[in-house]
Amino acid sequence: MQREEILKKGESTASKVSIAVFFFALAKVIIALISGSVALLSDGVHSLTDTIESFFVWLGFKISQKKPTEKFPYGFYKAENIVAFFVSFLIILAGFEIARESFQRIFSFQPLNLAYGAIAIALSDAVFLFFLGRYETKIGKEINSQSITAQGKELTSHIFSSSLVVGGIISTYLGIPKIEGIVGLLLSLLVFKIGLESIKDSILSLMDISPSKEIEKKVKNLLLSIPNIQGFSGLKLRRSGPFIFGEVNIKIEKSLAVQKAHEIADEIEKKTKETIPQLDSFIIHIEPSEIKEPTIIIPVNENNQLNSLVSKQFGRAYLFAIVKIKENKLSSLEFIENPYKEKSVRAGLSVSKFLAEKKPDILITKEIGPISFHTLRDNLVQIYKAEDGTIKEVINKFLENKLKKIEQPTRIKE
Ligand SMILES: [Zn+2]
Repeated sequence: MQREEILKKGESTASKVSIAVFFFALAKVIIALISGSVALLSDGVHSLTDTIESFFVWLGFKISQKKPTEKFPYGFYKAENIVAFFVSFLIILAGFEIARESFQRIFSFQPLNLAYGAIAIALSDAVFLFFLGRYETKIGKEINSQSITAQGKELTSHIFSSSLVVGGIISTYLGIPKIEGIVGLLLSLLVFKIGLESIKDSILSLMDISPSKEIEKKVKNLLLSIPNIQGFSGLKLRRSGPFIFGEVNIKIEKSLAVQKAHEIADEIEKKTKETIPQLDSFIIHIEPSEIKEPTIIIPVNENNQLNSLVSKQFGRAYLFAIVKIKENKLSSLEFIENPYKEKSVRAGLSVSKFLAEKKPDILITKEIGPISFHTLRDNLVQIYKAEDGTIKEVINKFLENKLKKIEQPTRIKE
């Protein structure tokens, strides 16, 4: 489901629920006032807070649909959590009211008018809100909306409170004192519980709580299933209104071309969004895995083993020394001929492509032209500046970190 669709669905669900709950709340309060049932009145007041709540939920979805602005580049999704936070206090306030009324009723018995009407509205309310709550919970889960799901669950729980209301009304009708007041008090506890949970949830969301262990696990499994990833770290997910934002660092083989690395990142983004539709954005940082055993290329003009002198030129060097390093020591040395040393046109490009196939990590050279420089850098080869001397001297300086990295071509022409 698209973001806009999710928000639209949340909005329309909240508005439908608001209207339905408001209708029942009004009916309950009116009949409660006529009949004098404190249990029904408590329930009616409770339903009025539910109406206000779903109205605010609706408002939250309305605000969330506002496009991100320059000032709020991440959008307004958290509006929903802020609204839920304030509504929680209203719910707790209603809880106090109900508790107060019910407490008084324990000590003063009052017979009911219109007892059948009170029972009928309480019963129909119980059944209707139960199914409405179930429907709302289902949609809430579908669109991963915290407020819609919470409200749906709460409406479903009305079946218990409404049964208590029915029991209370019947006991008063039969002339049994205190029961209705006790029922009212019990119902107020339920209202407190709803309010406190709602405060907790909205604060956690505002504090960027991770969505859930399941969602985190899904993302982890997905990352592990993608080829060419050598590992990942720093996976962070956070909830923002009905959406999830995330980021991760992935490690890829150093020699992988930039284009390929980009494809991998795209693949991760596509797959995670398919698995977790609520994911709004997933930022992927790519880092090359650390080179533990680098392969180094050095242009030379003679094969004099470690005593070969470093060539003044790169593209037209006679030979290339390929040095492998293990545990910070030279572990192997071989020489390859430069097949393009006599090439008159675009020798730099041919040589660089030829060398890139050897998958070197590092090139140490005195000079490098622009085409060679960019070709090698695109293949993630790091380039260092060589000083006069033999391979042995240059490698030692490299291992002692005394060579400078070349960040731009040293010549204008190849
Ligand atoms: Zn309720």
